Amino acid sequence: MEHPMKTDYLVVGAGFAGAVCARTLAEAGRRVLVIERRSHVGGNAFDRHDGQGVLIHPYGPHIFHTNAKRILEWLSRFTDWRFYEHRVLASVDGQLVPIPINRTTLNRLYAKDLDEAGAKAWLQRVRAPRDPVRTSEDVVLDSVGHDLCEKFFRGYTRKQWGVDLSELSAGVAARIPTRTDDDDRYFTDTYQFMPSHGYGAMFERMLDHPNITVRLHTDYFSDRQDIDASHTIYTGPIDAFFDYRFGRLPYRSLRFEHKHLPALSQFQAVGTVNYPNEQAYTRITEFKHLTGQEHEGTSIVFEYPQADGDPFYPIPRPENERLYARYRELAENCSDTTFVGRLAQYRYYNMDQVVAASLAACKSILGS
Ligand code: FAD
Ligand code: UDP
Repeated sequence: MEHPMKTDYLVVGAGFAGAVCARTLAEAGRRVLVIERRSHVGGNAFDRHDGQGVLIHPYGPHIFHTNAKRILEWLSRFTDWRFYEHRVLASVDGQLVPIPINRTTLNRLYAKDLDEAGAKAWLQRVRAPRDPVRTSEDVVLDSVGHDLCEKFFRGYTRKQWGVDLSELSAGVAARIPTRTDDDDRYFTDTYQFMPSHGYGAMFERMLDHPNITVRLHTDYFSDRQDIDASHTIYTGPIDAFFDYRFGRLPYRSLRFEHKHLPALSQFQAVGTVNYPNEQAYTRITEFKHLTGQEHEGTSIVFEYPQADGDPFYPIPRPENERLYARYRELAENCSDTTFVGRLAQYRYYNMDQVVAASLAACKSILGS
């Protein structure tokens, strides 16, 4: 940076956690400097138009869903919304069937004609009860049994996380419910929307405040000596902050392969198709379903999980939780730094949860 900079608060990272904190502190009258090492704000929720003019999510599909009206209202100050309920099909046994597993899934896969009570009875018969339910394998076996576990969960999870279902905490697979009715929505939250003009536009408005300065292409570790701040909000990986003192905290990464298909108005019937078994990628998303954009071509993204690369997911399993707890203890002793967000808190947070955690963090910083 050209000039050493004095500020009340330094915010490291311009994703949801950083932007929500910056805005809240700025509105409380504090001067805030946001630094972001990437070339854009928005973190992993960033979106932009590709070379052909289709609005895409470079870091994978992001659908806003929440039960918290308060969080929706807070964000609504910076965007209008487009109603959108995400639907996902899984490619299993040569068919495309709804995931989360529902009555339609069972009838299609097993050539049945079950009504809701029949679907309930079927699952009751095939489920393999587990007590206690500790791992993601327990969750899946307990709800749908061995066959459906192999068809939908075992392979997908191995690809996505690089470990077996039995090695992941229950919360991972518990994100996916099992249904006996025909509801084929991926999420059942009360509020499900996409920002009408995209996440990028929403972030620009959130960060547009006279008390906020944003510096892109700025890395905390190489540039911090040029900044004089009384308090830091850090939203990057927590192990990096402490120079990996206790060893690396595992984060899962992804490689995104984006494609534009000219002169094809629709590639697939729904926003996302999951490929639990056959392919190296886990899923394909077609953005026009999410955004409602009209265009003579279409743009899709394939997600290939990998160990190395930008950290995208904490890996929820007991040994990682234990390692994180050691870093958290260091963090709790840093009175001049607040750690918030998916990477800094090592939690498998959705966007709305990051907003809630960030508002709570600011409340405690501002002492209100
Ligand atoms: P991030 O978005 O990761 O932001 C952290 C920022 O800090 C980054 O921009 C990073 O570059 C910057 N940074 C890190 N270290 C430094 C440093 N040293 N110096 C400067 N800057 C630094 N959530 C949903 O609710 N719905 C979805 O549909 C959904 N889909 C997802 C799909 C994928 C593929 C992924 C990976 C996540 C998805 N999420 C979804 C989760 C969502 O992305 C996160 O909850 C949210 O974006 C996390 O915000 P954050 O600010 O904590 O972290
Ligand atoms: N999952 C699976 N098969 C699927 C969908 C999900 O095995 O078809 C498991 C898998 O372990 C995945 C987890 O459930 O990582 C959570 O899925 P979600 O779609 O919530 O993942 P995200 O969108 O966060 O990548």
